[in-house]
Order: sequence, then C-alpha cells, then structure tokens
Amino acid sequence: MKQSQLFTKTRKEVPSDEVSKNAQLLIRGGFVHKEMAGVYSLLPLGLRVVDKINTIIREEMNAIGGQEVFMSALQDPETWKKTDRWEGDAKDIWFKTHLGNGGELGLGFTHEEPLTNLMKNHISSYKDLPKYVYQIQTKFRNEVRAKSGVLRGREFLMKDLYSFCKTPEEQDAFYEQAKQAYTNVFKRVGLGDRTFMTFASGGTFSKYSHEFQTLCDTGEDTIYVDEKKHIAINKEVLNDEVLKDLGVSRDDLVEKMAVEVGNIFSLGTRFSDAFGLNFLDATGTQQSVVMGSYGIGPTRTMGVIAEVYGDDKGLVWPKSVAPFDVHVLVLESKEGADVHAYTEKITTDIEKAGYEVLYDDRGMTAGAKFADADLIGIPMRLVISDKHMRNNTVEMKGRTEADARVVTSSEVVGLLSS
Ligand code: ATP
Ligand code: MG
Repeated sequence: MKQSQLFTKTRKEVPSDEVSKNAQLLIRGGFVHKEMAGVYSLLPLGLRVVDKINTIIREEMNAIGGQEVFMSALQDPETWKKTDRWEGDAKDIWFKTHLGNGGELGLGFTHEEPLTNLMKNHISSYKDLPKYVYQIQTKFRNEVRAKSGVLRGREFLMKDLYSFCKTPEEQDAFYEQAKQAYTNVFKRVGLGDRTFMTFASGGTFSKYSHEFQTLCDTGEDTIYVDEKKHIAINKEVLNDEVLKDLGVSRDDLVEKMAVEVGNIFSLGTRFSDAFGLNFLDATGTQQSVVMGSYGIGPTRTMGVIAEVYGDDKGLVWPKSVAPFDVHVLVLESKEGADVHAYTEKITTDIEKAGYEVLYDDRGMTAGAKFADADLIGIPMRLVISDKHMRNNTVEMKGRTEADARVVTSSEVVGLLSS
C-alpha cells in the first residue's frame, strides 16, 4: 500500500476536546475519526487493526465450536418486555427511537433476549444441543460518561457468544473451554502479560463470573492481583470467602487499576425460562436450556493496546494486530538516483514473502516521515536513501528500538521473521 494513496492523514495537534490517551493517539495517527462524544468511525488503519483482532477472536471462538451469526441491531420492545429489560434495570442504557406510526424500537445493547427467542426455532430436542452461537456486531449503550475514547463508546463493537446446553455440567465444561479461549485471545493480541482472569460476582446462577482485566493506570476498575498465580479478584467481591476459595493470601495481592476487555458469565435458565426455550431429554421429559454469555470488546481492546503501549512519540502495535507488518520509508534522492525503483523492488520482495507493507513514497522531509512512522506505530521500519542504494543496503529499526542497523538488501526478508 502506497502511503501517498492512503486518504488517512496524521495530525500534529491533539484534539482539544479529547482527554484520553487512546483517542488522542488514534485520532492523531489517523486510525479513527471522532463523530461526537463516545462515537468513533474507523478509518482504513483503524479498521485493519480491528479486523486483525476480530480474526484472532474468530479463530479462537471457532476452535471451541462457535458458529458465527450477525443479528439485527434494531430491537423489538416485545422481546425485551419478557425479561423486564425494556423498562426495568436496563432502562437507562437503551437508545430508543419512535417509528412513524407511533411504535417504538431499541438499538441493541446486548443480545441475550433476541437470540434466546431465535433459538426457539432451532432447539426442541436433546439432539439439538449443545449449541454455541456468536457474532461480532455493533452495540449501542447510553453510557453516562463517555470520556475514555474508544474504551467506552456509546456505539462500539462487541463479540458476544452465547452457549445453549442440556445440563449445568455441560455448561460448566464449555465455560472452562471459554476461559482458555479468552486467555488465548488476549495472549495473541499482545496483552497476555498484563491481562488477568479476574473473579467477579456471579449473579444468581453461579458463585463467580470471570472478567478479563488488562492492567492500565487510566482504567476504571480496581482489581487485586496475585502476580505469581496470574489471577485477580475484583474489588466488589474481595472478602475472606473468595480468598479461601482461590487459596490466595491477602498479603500477596496488589491493588491495580484495570480495564475490562472481556467477561464470561453463567446465565442458568433465566433467559430460557423467560422465553420458554425448552427441550425434550432422552427420556422425553421437558427441560430448560442452560445458558452462558461471553463478551469481548474488539474496539475497546484496540484502545487498551493504544493506551498501555503508546509512548511519547505515538502508537506501538504488537506484531499480531499492527495495521501493516513493515513500514518502508524512501528518502528523496539528492543525487537524482532512482531510489524509488530500488525501494519498490525491496518492497515487492517483502510482500512476496507474505508481509504487509505500508510504503511511504510521499515527497516529504526525512524528519516528517520519521515522525509519522513513530506516530502510526508499525513494528518494523525500513529506511532507504541514496547511500543505501549505492551500497545495496537498507536501514532497519524496530518501533521501540533505540538504534537502527544497516543490513544488505538480500538479508532483509530473512531478518523480518526473527
Ligand atoms: P463495563 O463494566 O466496562 O461497562 P460491561 O460489564 O458493561 O463493561 P459487558 O456488558 O460484559 O461489559 O460487555 C462485554 C464486553 O464489551 C466488555 O468486556 C467490554 O470489552 C466491551 N464493552 C462494554 N461496554 C463497552 C463500551 N461502552 N465501549 C466499548 N466496549 C465496551
Ligand atoms: Mg457497562
């Protein structure tokens, strides 16, 4: 991809109305466009990052039997009245709208109700179970405080998976698989070291739920971390009983601020009973389907990565989610040499080896190109000037490395994999 063709531009100035680091960097780097408080559009660079996060999530959900769907965002009030979540507790979180004929609709903030309703068409016998259904879809929430950039959007992406099982035992076994899949996801997006499976309140149907919390000084959640065991306890459930359950000593716990990037929850039969989602077991007896829900925020995950790894020069993407693998910068020739042709040949070789390249072919000063490369945060930078062309070399530097090294053009591809 030639940078001269990319419509996204970087900006020097920090948007005056944006207080969060993630939004400041993502806007300046040209990854997102702010529409209004808590509402962001994804530009090509931002979409590439989110797509990579989503691909990792899809692979891990498919590996535990997930089947992908894409449900409607517009919601029928009648569906939500069955669980008292049209008015009730969820009243303040809805964005609701009126139809021309006087009816009302809502913009979905989660999907337990419509999916439970939908599954009534597909589940009637024990032979239809278990089923694991997920989507990556836009959610709408009337968040009161939308000052944390893409960490807390009023419109945001969520991966939500719902499990439908015959028995609590079958549900528990899947729950354990989901824990592992979540651990894999956060490891693969580059947050493994600082993301902790965190014991939180379980609601009516189980003792605990599990949040996946990423350590982040600007996070809104307080958690207590046991570094050695690599687990944490949410402040809301920290008491003697949970310490005993987990075999954790209070002295080993350190208080930290964190951002919830994922959340897994046993729902029991709350939703299946409300909708009459039942099945006939092997003896012909009618039973309620046992459910669970499992969320991850892909846009929040992008924001946390920006927040925790970004430095004073700009974004720093882990390899697995970077918008491109390699950023190639050509410096304009002072000697009238065809340094562009030399650079394009190297770029083509790198692309043929399977790497995605952003090629900065713009006619700008070296300083301006370096500053943009630091701001955009692609993990590996190659610089090519007259001198390199003459010597058949390339300058290579990792985004967080202090010094560049000069290598021969034939070595480059081999060095990218190390
Ligand atoms: P929080 O306590 O931070 O509001 P939540 O408990 O409301 O989160 P869930 O309803 O469990 O979140 O949603 C599942 C996932 O969706 C969360 O773990 C998070 O990653 C993401 N998410 C939730 N709310 C937002 C939001 N307003 N903006 C971006 N992502 C969000
Ligand atoms: Mg919330």
